[in-house]
Order: sequence, then structure tokens, then C-alpha cells
Amino acid sequence: MIEVEHLGRCPVCARTERRIAVADAADGVFGTPGRWDYWACACGVLYLDPRPAPDAIPGIYRHYYTHALADPPLRWREPGFRGAVRRGYLNARYGYRFPDASRLGALTWPLRRAAVKNLDFMIRHLPAPAKAGTRLLDVGCGNGDFLIVARDLGFEASGIDPDPAAVAAARSRGLDVALGGLPGSGSRDASFEHVMLSHVLEHVADPVGALAEARRLLVPGGRLWLSLPNASSDGLKRFGPHWRGLEPPRHFALFGAERLRALLAAAGFERIERLPPEDAALFYFRQSQAIAHGLDPYRAEDPPGWNALRGFAETANRRARRFPGCADTVTMIAFAPPLSAETAKSRLRVDERRADGLEAGSTPVEGRPREETPEH
Ligand SMILES: [Zn+2]
Repeated sequence: MIEVEHLGRCPVCARTERRIAVADAADGVFGTPGRWDYWACACGVLYLDPRPAPDAIPGIYRHYYTHALADPPLRWREPGFRGAVRRGYLNARYGYRFPDASRLGALTWPLRRAAVKNLDFMIRHLPAPAKAGTRLLDVGCGNGDFLIVARDLGFEASGIDPDPAAVAAARSRGLDVALGGLPGSGSRDASFEHVMLSHVLEHVADPVGALAEARRLLVPGGRLWLSLPNASSDGLKRFGPHWRGLEPPRHFALFGAERLRALLAAAGFERIERLPPEDAALFYFRQSQAIAHGLDPYRAEDPPGWNALRGFAETANRRARRFPGCADTVTMIAFAPPLSAETAKSRLRVDERRADGLEAGSTPVEGRPREETPEH
């Protein structure tokens, strides 16, 4: 059996009032033993209680990564017309400067919404790097697939992951990856223009601490991108304990967009924006249906009833475009506050003093605040 800890209260707001939301859910993805309950807090968080104790956590991820090292498809690098259209789209929409790009990419993208959305999510809506050496941290980077994407897009990309095997796999591909999680990203400086939390926040024991740490890692004006299963999704209502987004006992807490927005604001983020949801219903419905039938959701064949269900999934995708609150996943961006005028002025003074000092051949000015050290 898995060693558990009992919370008795919401891990986000500490309220003890709650109602059972999903009872007796099993791990239909990786077969971790046990039956698990999710509780709904009045604050909007859906949380697992009891949940695996800290010492038990490596065990519940034993089968998590395939560690297969097939490089992710860089669809904008494909030769020919389709690749040129994709490059044209990324240039027009996100400010890249890919050569050999078709201007049709800018013109036709409203017509090809699904294909374009795939591309948006593939690059995680990343605007072109503003300068050489723009730094990006992918938290929970696994074997580093997204780091390969980010590097191709021109970012100086690094990652952290709590799984030593994933870190080893990523390093074998020549990627800059360290062991770590959130909170507990190690001694990394606040030096990233971009922090990515792709399906991470639902896994952490302390989501408030994790967002505070993500905020700390960003330079002033830096951008956080996060995506995770949506606690208020129609999929959860339809599939209940079998919904793919629950994934007990690895998902500790789930949120809807409004709760996330409040948490991000409390962590000091601004310009918080929900992005149009991913067309995720085909994946979520298919996997949930497999789980409901006790099948491995990653096996090749379609689950029973899939022919009928497929239409409902396509309807769910269309509905989510109109009502993003129903979607299976929620994706948001938020920004660290820019430098205040006062801080910018004092920073300039420090830089001037340092420049003077260097000219005079003396040592650089000491006592420079750590977060104002852009060269790390
Ligand atoms: Zn709460």
C-alpha cells in the first residue's frame, strides 16, 4: 500500500469546510494501488485527501515517463509549402523571423483554426525572443522534448524535473537540465524571461508556494505560461472518477480559471490572461472512456463505444471554444511586474557606479541586489 498523509483541509486556503466531489477513484493510467477521494473546497479548489505522503511520491511516478527519446516534430522546419505556411504564421503571429516563409501563413490561419491551435500549443504561445540569450525555464521538463522546441525557436532553454531518470534522459540529449521542482528549484537566480508550468501545478503539494517560486524565478516583466486539467470541465462531470484529468493519486489539486487567476494575482503576477483552450476533448474523452472500461488508455485500439463518443468529443471541442470554462484544460499566461521607475533609476545608478569603478580599475560595486544581476 501507498503511505498516505491526511490533510483534513484545503491545501490552498486551509478551510476545513468541504464536500466530497469524486469518491473512490482508482489510478486507471498507471495502476497505482488504492482508492482515492477528491474534495471540493468553497474556494474553488478540488483536492486529493488523503494523498501520498512525501516519502511515497517517487513510487507513484515509477511508471510515469516512457523515457523514449523520439525528437518532437518541429513542424515549422518541414520543407515545402506546408512548412513555409507554418513559418509564415509564426512570423506574423509571434514575431519570428524564419526565412523561406509563405505570407499565406498570415492570411489563411483564421480558416485553419484546429491546425493553428496545435501549432500555438506546440510552441506554448511563445513570442519570438526579444534578444539573444533570452532565458526560459521549463519546470517538470521530463525528458526535455519542449526544451528542444524552445531551443529551435531561439531561446536559451533549461529545465528542472524531480525525476532523476528524466533528468538523465534529457542530459543525454545535450540539454541543460537539473534535478528539482517547485518550490525547491534549487539556487537558481531570478533570471528567466519565461517560466513554463505545463501540467505541473496539479502535481505539487504546495501550489501557493510553487507559484511564488515561479514568480521569484522571473525577471521583471517576465512571463509565466501554465496549462493543466480544468477543475470545472464538462469532462469531469461526464466521466466522474474516470476522467483523465484526475489521474489519482498524482494530481493533488485542480483549479478552474477563476481560482487560478486569484492565485496568480496573490502571487504577485499581473496581466493575467486565459488563452483559448486546447482542442483536448478527443484525447480526454478517449482516454477517460478507456479508463472507465478498465483498459490501458495508451493502448492502440479504440475503447468500446468510441464511435458514438467521438462525436460528443468533437461537440465538446466546439463548445469549449464558445465557453472556455467547460474545456478539459485551462491555459493561462501572467507576467511578473515590470521594474518600477524607482528601481530602474537606482539600477541605472548602480550600473553607472560600476562602470566608473571598472574604468578606475577598482573592483565592481558590492552589495548589488541579487535579482538585478542580469548576466546569470
Ligand atoms: Zn480552499
